[in-house]
Amino acid sequence: MCHIEEAEHRAEQRVRAEIGEGQITLPTYEAFCNSAKGLMIGEFKVQVPDVQCSECEGSGFEDAEEELECSTCDGTGSVALQIPVPWTTIKEIYRTITEEYGPKPAIDAAREVG
Ligand SMILES: [Zn+2]
Repeated sequence: MCHIEEAEHRAEQRVRAEIGEGQITLPTYEAFCNSAKGLMIGEFKVQVPDVQCSECEGSGFEDAEEELECSTCDGTGSVALQIPVPWTTIKEIYRTITEEYGPKPAIDAAREVG
């Protein structure tokens, strides 16, 4: 282990000791909103199965008279859609995390008074 690695290792151990095992530091909700949009957009998707195929309108045929299967849905009449999770939803999830696990000034202040 070189000197820099050793120093990094010690620094990491110190941080872990300060914030506690099993914990990491995270940006505040505001900092997350200002910095994570590019990182998060398009990163998560919800799969919606059995959506009517828009090419054949659910018939399964590209040409019903010639009984030509629809190439978009392979003749099933339905497709699965991948819907990206909207940025607003990602922000709501992150807000819930920070509210649950972040500092709670009102409660902390009440404890100091009480
Ligand atoms: Zn189709």
